[in-house]
Amino acid sequence: MLIVQKYGGTSVGTVERIEAVAQRVIQTRKAGNDVVVVVSAMSGETNKLLDFAAYFSKSPNQREVDMLLSSGERVTSALLAIALSELGYPAVSMSGRQAGIVTDNFHTKARIEKIDVAQMQARLNEGNIVVVAGFQGVTCNGEVSTLGRGGSDLSAVAIAGALEANLCEIYTDVDGVYTTDPRIEPKAKKLDKISYDEMLELASLGAKVLQSRSVEMAKKLNVNLVTRSSFNNNEGTLITKEDNIMEQPLVSGIALDKNQARVTLRGVTDKPGIAAEIFKKLADSNVNVDMIIQNVGHDGTTNLGFTVPQNELEATRKAMSELKASDVVEYDSDIVKVSVVGVGMKSHSGVACIAFDTMAKENINIEMISTSEIKISLVIQAKYGELAVRALHSAYKLDK
Ligand code: ADP
Ligand code: ASP
Ligand code: MG
Repeated sequence: MLIVQKYGGTSVGTVERIEAVAQRVIQTRKAGNDVVVVVSAMSGETNKLLDFAAYFSKSPNQREVDMLLSSGERVTSALLAIALSELGYPAVSMSGRQAGIVTDNFHTKARIEKIDVAQMQARLNEGNIVVVAGFQGVTCNGEVSTLGRGGSDLSAVAIAGALEANLCEIYTDVDGVYTTDPRIEPKAKKLDKISYDEMLELASLGAKVLQSRSVEMAKKLNVNLVTRSSFNNNEGTLITKEDNIMEQPLVSGIALDKNQARVTLRGVTDKPGIAAEIFKKLADSNVNVDMIIQNVGHDGTTNLGFTVPQNELEATRKAMSELKASDVVEYDSDIVKVSVVGVGMKSHSGVACIAFDTMAKENINIEMISTSEIKISLVIQAKYGELAVRALHSAYKLDK
């Protein structure tokens, strides 16, 4: 079998941890498998590098940021290859470019366009364990790119897809995917299986156990994806097709996204085309707008509110000052988004009411609401985020 294993930041956080990872990889190799390992930077390293850049500039050149950030993963890939070779198992590290990962030109959130597997395949055929630096690729102009925060998950899934691996294992610091972040709610339960679609919602709504684009890619390429802990041998969570799951619960999980900010434009002229103008400007500035609320206008003006990722607030400010669609623009980073996710909602009514009731009982004001077939999201004040997660977890009986 060909197995792709990805180890996250905490799993390679120290030289001792890298040694433990080497032992795990060797076990898999000894069992007769070919192994491609994808590694993250040591935990905290990417943030540290970003802080260094922030010392010099509020909006550093994105190409340079990619040069900087990609170094973190290269360190761990080389160290793991050295450790493996020393233990008698030939290994070779590869940067994103050497692994043939070609992306578009969007620095710091590039998309993978194709993977040229020839180099990886050749190294595997020579009997090596291949250790790829995650989170990075190369643009068609030969520039280094990175894949967005948490992007090593995406590297692993994309490589597994391209090499037609039998299995892609994501090793992290929890036993798998839980009904909610076990660090917020200790009563959270580990799920044995979850569908691609639910995992995709949970991930894009803040459950960082898997990067959302990696789940999207796994679904598209039909990759057998498992998340599990690198600290024990417990069985993890299988992310799979909905048909492979016998009984769909009403609600599978609760997610908390602390990385959102709200923008409110007051007194926007209430005429056709204005929303198009505002959101086109934001799209051109590469800002990801999420929830949008427009009030019923009166006296020819209206208020427009929307949320954006906190790290895109600077780009949003710039776009809004260039556009001048409204005289008053308010920015609020002191909010969070809590979401309830479940495929079972499709066929049940009243699921949203439980969420509203729960917020009422806890005396938490709901500032924005959005729903889809399989999720309900609420924007509330940041200080209530974790309380809301625990209250919803118990209201939907996920601890049972
Ligand atoms: P890695 O560095 O291995 O990529 P991350 O920190 O990116 O690990 O992701 C793992 C973390 O995701 C866990 O430590 C946990 O706090 C968090 N998390 C959030 N939501 C969930 C969830 N539903 N199930 C499991 N972990 C979750
Ligand atoms: N090191 C990168 C990050 O911290 C990528 C990853 O860990 O997946 O976002
Ligand atoms: Mg991660």
